[in-house]
Amino acid sequence: MPTEVTPHPAGRGWEYAPAPESRDIVSIAPQYGLFIDGEFAPAADGAQLGTVNPATEEPLAMVARGGPADVDRAVAAARAAFEDVWGPMPGAERAKYLYRIARILLERARQFAVLETLDNGKPIRESRDVDVPLAAAHFFYYAGWADKLEYAGFGPAPRPLGVAAQVIPWNFPLLMAAWKLAPALAAGNTCVLKPAETTPLTALLLAQVCQQAELPPGVVNILTGAAETGAALVAHPAVNKIAFTGSTEVGKQIAAAAAGTGKRLTLELGGKAANIVFDDAPAEQAVEGIVSGIFFNQGQVCCAGSRLLVQESVAEEIAERLCRRLATLRLGDPMDKNTDIGAINSRQQLDKIEELAAAGQAEGAHRWSPPCELPGRGYWFAPTVFTGVSMSHRIAREEIFGPVLSVLTFRTPAEAAAKANNTPYGLSAGVWTEKGSRILWMAQQLRAGVVWANTYNRFDPASPFGGYRESGFGREGGRHGLAGYLDG
Ligand code: NDP
Repeated sequence: MPTEVTPHPAGRGWEYAPAPESRDIVSIAPQYGLFIDGEFAPAADGAQLGTVNPATEEPLAMVARGGPADVDRAVAAARAAFEDVWGPMPGAERAKYLYRIARILLERARQFAVLETLDNGKPIRESRDVDVPLAAAHFFYYAGWADKLEYAGFGPAPRPLGVAAQVIPWNFPLLMAAWKLAPALAAGNTCVLKPAETTPLTALLLAQVCQQAELPPGVVNILTGAAETGAALVAHPAVNKIAFTGSTEVGKQIAAAAAGTGKRLTLELGGKAANIVFDDAPAEQAVEGIVSGIFFNQGQVCCAGSRLLVQESVAEEIAERLCRRLATLRLGDPMDKNTDIGAINSRQQLDKIEELAAAGQAEGAHRWSPPCELPGRGYWFAPTVFTGVSMSHRIAREEIFGPVLSVLTFRTPAEAAAKANNTPYGLSAGVWTEKGSRILWMAQQLRAGVVWANTYNRFDPASPFGGYRESGFGREGGRHGLAGYLDG
């Protein structure tokens, strides 16, 4: 592996014309209430917090900051809806509501995509082509299960658990809401969902979709707020199930708080995935997979392929191709349809990425980014590749959650598997090779919940997703995704 990598001298020979998506399709209210029992209302104590567009730092809206009294009210509404309406409702009837939500999501797809990009900073291309269609697909998929639960392999008469407290992060705000709500509702549970502080807006638009679909009041409640709101929600004694996606640190706190309470718990936490490229892999395809593995959503993805393990004999070739490809990525206005790399979600996250990248340099790895101009306002970080990384470096061990790739090399498949597994996490991995037998062998060796072969970051509602060890437990997606919401 070269310690020096130089960008392709040609760079981009020409420029795209601006292709901005219009934001007029969505109207953002100056303030939003909590969505409890089918209606929007301010927090009991009137507290609010602001959300900004991370690409411009422009304030977008104020949202209610739920406190303990609001948590009580939301959980009570969910409990009443569970006992009186949703729990007793036949699965075939519940399915109709889920199908309706899915269809409305598709009808309003452009609104959701624009709002997601404004609030999160991700490129419109991604919110339009990935987040929103996949969110709708989850509702469609689980709608199909609602009347077939007795055939799902959880016993002849599986029962819903009751009230689900669901806490989600800021990297895929709408999609994570769909991952949580769709299986819970299909199984007959009611939900109180707490979106992340920095990305509450699409969850609130989803609340409007629930109204539009005439979902019975209290079946879905959206409780915006900060970390304390999430902590009060998961600690509430009338909650039966906790589903959390976010950092390993907070996941551990929630696991400790839930211990001995009888609440069911699933955790989807961090990762430090290895994307492993063998010498027989089709190089162009592998480079595309490496790029989407770590630069999709600015690398703010729990299953991001943040450690590239490349076989020594092709390391130089892959590095050169990668650098050439990175020089063609377009960083900038997330609302531009040609943008590949958008903004980092928050100042706090940007600080964390900068701190870890600086640690990589201080520990002796070689840092490289393609020439790219960062906008003057907003939270931005250039795509970055570190070569000369060793397993002991912080950038090889800690989840950076940003557009930063650490490159390591290996000689044999056994060494690749050992290096890939040398992490406290176990969420995902990628293998690039033409040999089917090697794919199967590697998949057996890798301690990861998901192993992609000759592809990366591929999601489907029918396919389970989740981790081992410090990446959490439980699965979302597929038949397995129902297990966390049913008693056999
Ligand atoms: P957190 O784990 O802090 O946040 C995830 C969600 O949990 C948010 O809704 C948050 O609310 C809420 N929350 C925070 N503290 C508590 C608590 N004590 N009890 C209950 N809920 C709580 O992630 P951050 O946003 O702070 O990101 C920090 C790091 O976590 C990232 O740098 C990244 O490494 C990792 N991360 C991993 C994700 C994954 O998918 N695996 C997703 C997001 C982050 P609020 O936003 O209001 O604080």
